[in-house]
Amino acid sequence: MTTVGILGGGQLARMLALSGAPLGLRFRVLDTVADACAGQFAPLIVGDYRDEAALAEFAAQVDVATFDFENVPAESARWLSERVPVFPNPRALSIAQDRLAEKTLFRELGIPVPAFADVADRAALDAAVAVIGTPCILKTRRLGYDGKGQFRIKSPADVDAAWDALGAQAATVGLILEAFVRFERELSVVAVRGRDGEFRAWPLTENWHVDGVLSVSLAPARVDADLAAQADAHARALAEALDYVGVFALELFCRDGVLLANELAPRVHNSGHWTIEGSETSQFQNHLRAVLGLPLGDTRMLGHACMLNWIGHLPDAEPVLREPGGHWHDYGKEPRAGRKVGHATLRADSPAELAAAMARVGRALGRDDIVAHAAGID
Ligand code: ATP
Ligand code: MG
Ligand code: MG
Repeated sequence: MTTVGILGGGQLARMLALSGAPLGLRFRVLDTVADACAGQFAPLIVGDYRDEAALAEFAAQVDVATFDFENVPAESARWLSERVPVFPNPRALSIAQDRLAEKTLFRELGIPVPAFADVADRAALDAAVAVIGTPCILKTRRLGYDGKGQFRIKSPADVDAAWDALGAQAATVGLILEAFVRFERELSVVAVRGRDGEFRAWPLTENWHVDGVLSVSLAPARVDADLAAQADAHARALAEALDYVGVFALELFCRDGVLLANELAPRVHNSGHWTIEGSETSQFQNHLRAVLGLPLGDTRMLGHACMLNWIGHLPDAEPVLREPGGHWHDYGKEPRAGRKVGHATLRADSPAELAAAMARVGRALGRDDIVAHAAGID
């Protein structure tokens, strides 16, 4: 019997555990809090990720280890990797933890990126704003997620406020300044690479964010085949350069028909949740197959799909459950402002049927944004 260890016990670990059950897998989850939602389906070890005793207890109980979030301390990942196989490898994880390192790697691989600069101190910020221009975004290099640790600089008059908000973190997690991209679309490649190097990508996904947090995903994205092939080629180059094993997402902006890389998420990804019902093999199942060295499943789509993220609280489930292709995911979390507490997937055989289902659900839930996204699909 194989036991998979997951560092981090949020909804990603929970969905990994659920998708691993048919494979006969057991799970152990290490998390800092006793009410981590993956704990409802997998035995939880509560401890700090830097605590050697907790890590040792975890390592002793698992055959292979993986992550449900990217901010696991790199030293802890390395410590574990000396005791059990860890996928993705700690080097890939540590590059993905640092926006400066990941953007530098993208550029080395010939993957276009928005203009960026390291910001070590206030003088460097002024110099970077002068070169990159406005609008731009100041971000923490490390530990940011869901748009946290970011300040949008609309004009040079905002530089003082940006420094007041984030300057103290220059000496701790580091800062990076990025050009603000006026993109037509945000896209993500969700892909998987096996232990033997086999690479597969799901059809390209299109994403809409609200206040820096993913709100709605649509697959396949409304882009031409050349652009989708380009996105896959970028993801494959990145996975090969990092000797990556498992599922990851490469977030991209599309501006004037050109792809610019935003960031690498070294784990299963929110924009890939639609794969549970919308593709032959879900991202969760394929992540487990990859880290265990099993054959990868087909990533082809079953029709057209969208994912609706529930942030803060769950709405009424019935409008989704009434849809023939409607699927509901409640993560079993307490409601809290800004917290991802669940999602829905709508699946249909044609873009028109998907758009109609989205519009019905959007209207029933009073979500004009969903109705508006539906209106753009044909
Ligand atoms: P997550 O890991 O949850 O995706 P994050 O905190 O790492 O988020 P980013 O992905 O860098 O943050 O940014 C969140 C969102 O903010 C992006 O998806 C995009 O909508 C917007 N954004 C970020 N950087 C830029 C940029 N340079 N130009 C335009 N928009 C941006
Ligand atoms: Mg991120
Ligand atoms: Mg992101």
